[in-house]
Amino acid sequence: MFDQDHIAEAIAWRHDLHRHPELGFEEHRTSEMIAGLLTGWGWRVHRGLAGTGVVAQMGQGAPVIGLRADIDALPINEATGAAHASTIPGKMHACGHDGHTAMLLLAARQIAAEGVEQGTVTLIFQPAEESEGGARVMVEQGLFTQFPVDKVFGIHNWPGLAPGRFVARDDKMMAAFSVFDIEILGKGGHGAMPEQSDGVIAAAGRTAAALQEIPARALSPLEPGVVSVTQIHSGSAYNVCPDRAVLSGTCRWFGAEAGDIIEERVRRVATAEAAAQGCTANIDYQRRYPATINTAPEAALAREVAAEMGLDTAMTGPSMASEDFAFMLNEVPGAYLWLGAAREGDNPGLHSAKFDFNDAVLPAGAEFWVRLARRATRG
Ligand SMILES: [Zn+2]
Ligand SMILES: [Zn+2]
Repeated sequence: MFDQDHIAEAIAWRHDLHRHPELGFEEHRTSEMIAGLLTGWGWRVHRGLAGTGVVAQMGQGAPVIGLRADIDALPINEATGAAHASTIPGKMHACGHDGHTAMLLLAARQIAAEGVEQGTVTLIFQPAEESEGGARVMVEQGLFTQFPVDKVFGIHNWPGLAPGRFVARDDKMMAAFSVFDIEILGKGGHGAMPEQSDGVIAAAGRTAAALQEIPARALSPLEPGVVSVTQIHSGSAYNVCPDRAVLSGTCRWFGAEAGDIIEERVRRVATAEAAAQGCTANIDYQRRYPATINTAPEAALAREVAAEMGLDTAMTGPSMASEDFAFMLNEVPGAYLWLGAAREGDNPGLHSAKFDFNDAVLPAGAEFWVRLARRATRG
């Protein structure tokens, strides 16, 4: 579908973005580059939603299709050794959002060259996917009231799937998530005289074990859910019982009821395990992203378009990872899609310091966008 030199240019944009990663809501250079290219191709460009967000439109009237790419990087020190490695210590594109951005830009160039005869194509370049919820902020600031769309789609490169694979599930795609910090407080004392202090360490250990059992005992075995304690901080000496411990972690689920049960149990378990050791627990529990749930007709449309391209649309998943595209799917019908992007041999996963978006799948992702835009705007 694309001229070879246009593909080469898109890979060059990807490498340029990779060299200059920007964290959530700080994507100023990235946003500038996106807006500059789109303006040059004749798109009507709007900037400023969620600060660094870029929305661009072409065509007139209904139907309106929204195509979304996330643009932010992660706070990770890059270890790929690539020629286009990050030039900014402590920041890197370890999730492939540089690839998502370049893919949608390549598609945008092609859509502009072909023209949009009927309906409207709306491109959404969204900041801060990684944990700040840039999609939520764009929606709250009026994304879909200023730019109403009938359907919205998002793609993530998926290193767990071979190139040529494409997944659009009819319903559950990615889980909802929360994060928690539990501070356990008690009286400290001499390590040789435990009877004179409270069991802060015992409470922390028992709480960690009990929290991770919650999905197994509080949810139906048919209902997915997970609680992972990922940090425990306490103590500073061999012979001192500490007076404070902090446990942190994350919970994942799909169903609304499961989310309520998990939160209630986390609070109950932490409070009870602390009390059993003479301690108290301060619980900070925050829900972050809802579950990413596709609508079946839009998922079917995506699979049809992918199948036209010869991609293998066999179903797999869902994933217990999370995605803030959920906030857009809460507003309008649409689908979140995985594009197979595994590398031969060593195939680092998303968020690895060795991860680098697989440029070999960039043209297929962009071609999918162009075909989907054609199909969806025909109504
Ligand atoms: Zn990520
Ligand atoms: Zn990502």
